Amino acid sequence: MNKIASPAYYKTFDKGDVIFKQGERGDCAYIIEKGSVEIILHMPDGSQQPISTRGAGAIIGEMALVDRENRTATVIAREDCTLLEISEEEFARRLDTTDPIIQMAMKVILLRYRDMLTRVGVLSESGLLPSVEDLERESTSHSDAVSSIKLVNELKEALAEDQLELYYQPINDIKDGHVLGFEALMRWNHPQRGLVPPNEFIPVAEESGLIIEMSKWALQRACTDLAHIEQELGMTGLLYMSVNFSGKDLAAENFSYHVYETLSQTDTDAAKIQIEITERMLMENPEKAQETLALCRNAGMRIAIDDFGTGYSSLSYLHHFPINCLKIDRSFISKMLHSDSSLRLVQSIISLAKNLGMSVTAEGIEEQEELDKLERMACDFGQGYFFARPLPLSDIIKTLREKDMLPDPERLKLSAQDEDLIAQTPELSAD
Ligand code: C2E
Ligand code: CA
Ligand code: CA
Repeated sequence: MNKIASPAYYKTFDKGDVIFKQGERGDCAYIIEKGSVEIILHMPDGSQQPISTRGAGAIIGEMALVDRENRTATVIAREDCTLLEISEEEFARRLDTTDPIIQMAMKVILLRYRDMLTRVGVLSESGLLPSVEDLERESTSHSDAVSSIKLVNELKEALAEDQLELYYQPINDIKDGHVLGFEALMRWNHPQRGLVPPNEFIPVAEESGLIIEMSKWALQRACTDLAHIEQELGMTGLLYMSVNFSGKDLAAENFSYHVYETLSQTDTDAAKIQIEITERMLMENPEKAQETLALCRNAGMRIAIDDFGTGYSSLSYLHHFPINCLKIDRSFISKMLHSDSSLRLVQSIISLAKNLGMSVTAEGIEEQEELDKLERMACDFGQGYFFARPLPLSDIIKTLREKDMLPDPERLKLSAQDEDLIAQTPELSAD
């Protein structure tokens, strides 16, 4: 007989008590707290076969809960036992929040196990069980988990086969519109789907951890491309590159080591690299983020908080991180001309940044009026379609020249170089 101990989710059984019976519909599983149990199989010919004993810490009866079938064995207390009961509801809740692929794998394993027991004549349930094929088909169709696994595999291939690309969006001086640096934004040049935007693959890359490899690749490529851009523009050492990182990157072992290594391999001055990270990602693992960012900062890199204003309402965390720049989220910039509260928020972020000795960048500037307003509010830097969209390396230099974004002395230097070139090339000067 079951004796209910206190608290109610503990059950006690005396030596010899039947805890559950083979063939019964199970409604709970147990973890053995104290004592031990014997597991017995009842064979279709009426004989009994003890198959194992389990002691403290073991879980029993979970199978029937996973696939909602009957118990496959009888369990008897070998001595007085205390068991922690896991109810069917509790089990279902935990199972439902598990990755659907794990759920499917568990159910299929159990079904195959039951099928095997039936074939070797231990169970006589043949024909009552659903087919593994039906279960698999039901679980894999319409499953987001399956598409995300496909996507992860495709992304691995993308990394290996050089399908990833970086686009560069200029970051400009608000006052004169001259380019100061770039933000590197990832694109996936999918062989069938064409250019895939990052919002469709970065979240899956983050979830799977693949982002770590992708970020390493991005930093390496961004450093190489920055050197190329600077060289083409005759602006060596004058521009910076802002690279996006995720919380997973900051938490990864050796993140800062890999960053240093990439900088040294590409011969990039750390002061030219800005690390972008959102508030949300900082707060995923604040201690680790603080430690990693301090290492990056000590090496001379800059740290920017991306999408500022959309994350944590508490500003106290700002003191704990070595931050150089706040990037005001695009949503506030796009609303500020029509919404007083957005305008006040933008103004407050600018003041906050100044008070804390940080610089401030406005994201998503699309109109001249927004730019004028930001200039009056003493915002330092701006980024947005008004200046330029993110562009592939092959277009960026041409666009900077066409849009007159190069700083004056450099522009003079460049046009002088162009004139020299034209003078030395009779066919061109004739045009
Ligand atoms: P983000 O870091 O906030 O990047 C800015 C996004 O705003 C970019 O979208 C950019 O194209 C877009 N944008 C810039 N100016 C304007 C504008 O004036 N108007 C409008 N409507 N949009 C503008 P994108 O390139 O699609 O990137 C989306 C997000 O994907 C990024 O947001 C970032 O969170 C993530 N992402 C992109 N590349 C990387 C990467 O290499 N690593 C990581 N971890 N995340 C990345
Ligand atoms: Ca960013
Ligand atoms: Ca942003």
